[in-house]
Amino acid sequence: MDLLAFATGLISLALIYGLLAIGLNLQFGFAGVINFGYVAFFAVGAFASAIVTLPPPGSEAYLEASARYDIGLGLPIAAGFIAAALAGALLALFIGAVSARLATHYLAVATFAMAEVVRSVLGNETWLTRGEFGISNVPQPLGGVISPESYALFYLALTAVVVGLIFALLRRLGEKPFGRLLRAIKDDEVSARTLGKRTASAKLRALAIGGAVGGVAGALWTHSLGVVHVGQFVPIVTFQIWLAMLMGGSGNHWGALLGAFVLIAIREGTRFVGGIPGLDEIAAANPSFLPSLRFVLIGLLLIAVVRFFPGGLLPERRRKAPAAPGTAPAHAPPVPVAATDGPILEVAGLRKRFGGLAAVDGAGFVLRPGTITGLIGPNGAGKSTMIDLLSGVQRPDGGTVRLAGEDITGLTPEEIADKGLGRTFQTPRLYPSMTVWENLMVAGMPRGNETLRAGLWSSAARRRAEQAAAARAEAVLAELEIAHMRDELAGSLSGGQRKLLSLGRQMMRRPPLILLDEPAAGVNRRLAGDLFDRIAELNRQGTTFLIVEHEMQLIMRYCDRIVVMHQGRVLAEGTPEEIRANAEVIEAYLGGAVA
Ligand code: ADP
Ligand code: MG
Repeated sequence: MDLLAFATGLISLALIYGLLAIGLNLQFGFAGVINFGYVAFFAVGAFASAIVTLPPPGSEAYLEASARYDIGLGLPIAAGFIAAALAGALLALFIGAVSARLATHYLAVATFAMAEVVRSVLGNETWLTRGEFGISNVPQPLGGVISPESYALFYLALTAVVVGLIFALLRRLGEKPFGRLLRAIKDDEVSARTLGKRTASAKLRALAIGGAVGGVAGALWTHSLGVVHVGQFVPIVTFQIWLAMLMGGSGNHWGALLGAFVLIAIREGTRFVGGIPGLDEIAAANPSFLPSLRFVLIGLLLIAVVRFFPGGLLPERRRKAPAAPGTAPAHAPPVPVAATDGPILEVAGLRKRFGGLAAVDGAGFVLRPGTITGLIGPNGAGKSTMIDLLSGVQRPDGGTVRLAGEDITGLTPEEIADKGLGRTFQTPRLYPSMTVWENLMVAGMPRGNETLRAGLWSSAARRRAEQAAAARAEAVLAELEIAHMRDELAGSLSGGQRKLLSLGRQMMRRPPLILLDEPAAGVNRRLAGDLFDRIAELNRQGTTFLIVEHEMQLIMRYCDRIVVMHQGRVLAEGTPEEIRANAEVIEAYLGGAVA
């Protein structure tokens, strides 16, 4: 009987740790937010639920238990759980808002510091938490109704139901466009922004949900123990949650849950070490022996897992694309036409310095709608930097960029993407841990489908949008002749295939202006020709292109106009014939080869 209570208690504990690991997994494994202060959500959840459900001071129950605390709202347990979730979510939103501008590694430090601040506040505000003394008499659900003998079993069932519900909800969310977007952000946030994704707010939402989950875990924990005090929420708890998640497999909620069970098994297993002859004497002589041994064992296990199962015991699985829709591939939506008859892009006096080097040094040119313009120049001329400046990936130091007459200088990548400018990168920036199909789907998914609400409730309109994107992905896969690779991870593609997929993502979006940085580099000759034929076809349908390319034959054959850059400046601009005849260009770049 004792053993049964012990075992059920342990399973409950493992489930609660599993819940914590799942919440952290949503923040890190999905959205890539490195949170070293996760214990703080656990803490505020525990205190919130305790305070909300404690009988009010002076009440009969309070006096009967000769309790000591200053605040108790006496609300039902369910209200406590809701308060715990809210407290966790609010804390997460606060941290997210304060540190939104921090890069990942600073955020890691900030979250650690935040947890320490929360712990010190909880420790010092004695009117709220009774500080180091903590609060006992935290009510237990159906405490008086269920017999003490079967209470552990009852609480296990309650925990399993709560954890199971949250687990199912988060798994559903993970498979929806919202989850897909989070994984894309984790893989490459900048590239997601150039596809128009509002990555900051998606990350904030993931943080908030992860915070709410941590809060609920805190509530489950405090009501099972009946006591809560600040000493329970030391940084080592965060460390253990990380261990559980990494051991189990980040990105996979089943893995996080399994990791928690392994962690608890080891943690509690070391209790029995004291009974092993030889070790029992050491344990008796040195009280810190067992706790230390615990962490040595967990550490060794982590090393073994990292060595032999780099993705964790249950790594993130590859998601297979649904079977191709039987209907004929949908045609890409028409390209919105630029509002003006004037240039679609006007660049004037654009500047960017890196330290002492002027990478772009007062460059200017215009693009007419419906044309293909080649951007050529020697290595280091500033071509890639130019594309970064135009797409908002880097902020110019001076000069202006106008898109269809509208000043877009200094806007963010996502704002510029929304206004109709698409781009690819010289070194393709895909989502390597996602499949080819998923890479396309992320690019083609309308924003309204990527919301939290859309992840929780589907509607006919959203299903239609999803189907339309899937049909478009099918058409793009077929057009680029990579349909057989739909379920391959983008990270396993060859250089040329990555280039194709980068273009494919833009074809999903069909912006009126696309900037391509060396689309045919590393692509074999036949495929490079095909690729440019595709570009020419998209151009006939109305897309304007600016293409950085070194292969002069392709440039001369496909481009209407050519811009030549050299040392950050525009050296010449004109038709292929004019450029061919331009002695200066021949000197600087072509070296007479083409002439
Ligand atoms: P291109 O694409 O024409 O080969 P780039 O735009 O990549 O040229 O680079 C232009 C110059 O700016 C090069 O000298 C390069 O070394 C420098 N540069 C580019 N990006 C950076 C950066 N982030 N930091 C410092 N220097 C850079
Ligand atoms: Mg370049």
